[in-house]
Amino acid sequence: MTEKTAPQGTDIADLIVHLARMGQSCGHTEGTTPLTAAQWTALRYFARANRFSRTPSAFSEFHATTRGTASQTVKSLVSMGLLARQSHASDGRSTLIEVTEAGHAQLLRDPLRDLRCVLAALPDASRMALASALSQAVADLAKLRAAPIFGTCGDCNHLDSNASYCHCTQSLLTLPEMQSICVDFQPACTRNQT
Ligand code: SF4
Repeated sequence: MTEKTAPQGTDIADLIVHLARMGQSCGHTEGTTPLTAAQWTALRYFARANRFSRTPSAFSEFHATTRGTASQTVKSLVSMGLLARQSHASDGRSTLIEVTEAGHAQLLRDPLRDLRCVLAALPDASRMALASALSQAVADLAKLRAAPIFGTCGDCNHLDSNASYCHCTQSLLTLPEMQSICVDFQPACTRNQT
């Protein structure tokens, strides 16, 4: 019997791109506003990002696109009533982007929900191995491209977990904020390497 060889990086990269494209495309769902893939990504991003990251420039870094393109995507979603600009509570000059009620209703029909269900049905061990491998690949690619990595407080070097305090933003964090993605995230594994 011939031994199975490990798949090549090229095959896995093609598979990831194919999975991502298939997961995002399911045509238009009745009762929702038709959105492009970039608009869906922005809507998901602003629903999951913390208060330090809900800006068009942070979204441009997350989506690996230019600030101009990110601003246009945000502007289009604001004009559809799915996102809204709000003044920052502690700084009246800056604005944060918030998902509106209509935006949250749209997210209930997110085309990614089928992919989420398929992944949720995988055995625990497969899901854990997949998440770990993909996180490593994201971190390695970000390093190669000198791009920021997005993550949550639990895995971040800036967190003082005893006090739920962020040393980077010098803020106390609520539980929902600690579960949100952040543009200032620094993976805890880089401790003492910077
Ligand atoms: S602890 Fe890290 S992830 Fe959490 S808010 Fe601070 S910088 Fe962002």
